[in-house]
Amino acid sequence: MTDPASTENASHANNEATDTSIFEQRESNVQTYARSFPVIFEQARGAVLTDADGEHYLDFLAGAGSLNYGHNHPVLRDALIAYIQGDGIAHGLDMHTRAKADFLAAFEAKILEPRGLDYVLQFTGPTGANAVEAAMKLARKVTGRQNIVHFTNGFHGVTLGALAATGNSHHRGGAGMTIPGGTAMPYEGYLGEAMDTTEYLDKVLADNSSGVDLPAAVIVETVQGEGGLNVASFDWLRNLQAVCRRHQVLLIVDDIQAGCGRTGTFFSFEPAGIEPDIVTLSKSLSGFGLPFAVTLLRRELDQWAPGEHNGTFRGNNHAFVTATAAIDTFWQDGEFAAEVRRKSDDLAARLDAIAASRPGLQRKGRGLMQGLACADGETAKRITRHCFEHGLVIETGGPEGEVIKCLVPLTITDEELQRGLAVLERAVHAILPREGVIGLAPTNP
Ligand code: PLP
Repeated sequence: MTDPASTENASHANNEATDTSIFEQRESNVQTYARSFPVIFEQARGAVLTDADGEHYLDFLAGAGSLNYGHNHPVLRDALIAYIQGDGIAHGLDMHTRAKADFLAAFEAKILEPRGLDYVLQFTGPTGANAVEAAMKLARKVTGRQNIVHFTNGFHGVTLGALAATGNSHHRGGAGMTIPGGTAMPYEGYLGEAMDTTEYLDKVLADNSSGVDLPAAVIVETVQGEGGLNVASFDWLRNLQAVCRRHQVLLIVDDIQAGCGRTGTFFSFEPAGIEPDIVTLSKSLSGFGLPFAVTLLRRELDQWAPGEHNGTFRGNNHAFVTATAAIDTFWQDGEFAAEVRRKSDDLAARLDAIAASRPGLQRKGRGLMQGLACADGETAKRITRHCFEHGLVIETGGPEGEVIKCLVPLTITDEELQRGLAVLERAVHAILPREGVIGLAPTNP
C-alpha cells in the first residue's frame, strides 16, 4: 500500500483495481464518471479514495458535491452505526420517526432560525431531480401557470420534469421527445458583461406579445455547477428576485450543488440577501453521501393535498441521522463556514497563479466550487486525465466539458488542498506549452 500522504505514482502492481471487465460486460453504457476514473475503488476516508490495489487518490470530485464533509466522516459514521445497531427505523415511508423529528428540530434551530427563514420542508424522493420536480409541480399548482423560466447552461436533473429546466442538449436529447414547459433565458454574462439579463427577462414578462408565457416560477442556480461554474453576482440575484416579485412569479433557487456550505454559507444565496420562495437541497444534505432531498417551501405555498406528490422513498431515516449529526457538528456556529471561506480564498489564489502561468486559462466559480476554464474540452480532458494518472480525481463541466472543477470536500486539509493543486498545476504545465514555446516536452514544464 502506498503512503496515504502520497497519492502520486499509482503503480497498480496487483492489478485488481484495473480489472474492470465485469463492468464492461454487465453495466449499461450510460455510465460516465467510471470512464474518467477506470479503476475499482474500495475504501475512502476524508478527501482520499483508495482503490483495490491500495493506491490512494485525492478526491477533488467529492461525489459531484455530495460529500462536503468528506468520505466516512467518523462522527457521522458512528452516529449511523449506533442508530442501526439500536434497530432504529430504516424505512418508514413518510411516518413520524424519532430520526426525522431530530433532523427537523436541528434544521429549524441551526439552519432556519439563525437565518430568519421560515420554510416548510417537503421530503421528496431521494435525488436532486425529485426535489426539483416537486418544486416545479408545486409552483404550477399554486399559480395555475405552466411555464418555468430557467437559464442558459442551467442543470436541474435528468427526469423529464427537471429536463424541462435543463439547458444541455446532450441531456435533453436523452429524453427522446421534445420537453414542454420551460423557457430558457440568458444567465448573467451570457450576452456579455454590459448586459443585465434580468432587464431582458423583465421586459419579456411585461410584454404580452413577447411570445413567452408568464411563468409559474423562475428556477436558478447561484453558481452553475454542471454548466461550467458560472457565477451570478449578488446584484443580479437581487434584481432577479425583484423581477419575480414584480410579475408575481415564484423564485426557486436550486441549491442542490451550491448549497450545504459549498460556497461558504449554508445557503448559497445568503450573501445576496434574497429570500427565495422555494429552495431545493440534496447532494450533501445527508452529509454522508446517502440519497436525501428536500424542497423548502414558503409556508403559504404548501398547498399540496395529502399524498398528492408522494413516493416510497421520501425521507431516508439513515440520512436523517447523518444529516442531523452533520448539522450538529458543522453548523452550530459560524466557525466551519469561516474555514470554508478561508480555504476558498486559498483555492482562488492558487488557481489564479495557475491561470496566469499559461495563456487561455481562466479561474471561474465561487467558494469551494471553483475551477479553471480551458480553451476547449479536449484540453481540459487531457489535463484531468494527467491528474488522475498522478493520483488526483477531478472532473470537468461546462457545455463542452471545458471547465476543470475543484469540488473538494469542505473538510479537506490545507496540505491536501495544496498537494492536489500541485498535481493540477503540473498537469496544466505538462499539457500546455509555455507561451511561445512549441513542442515543449510534456514532462518538463
Ligand atoms: N440540480 C443541480 C443544481 C445539480 O447540480 C444536480 C446534479 O448535479 C441536480 C439538480 C440533480 O440532482 P440528482 O443528480 O441527484 O438528480
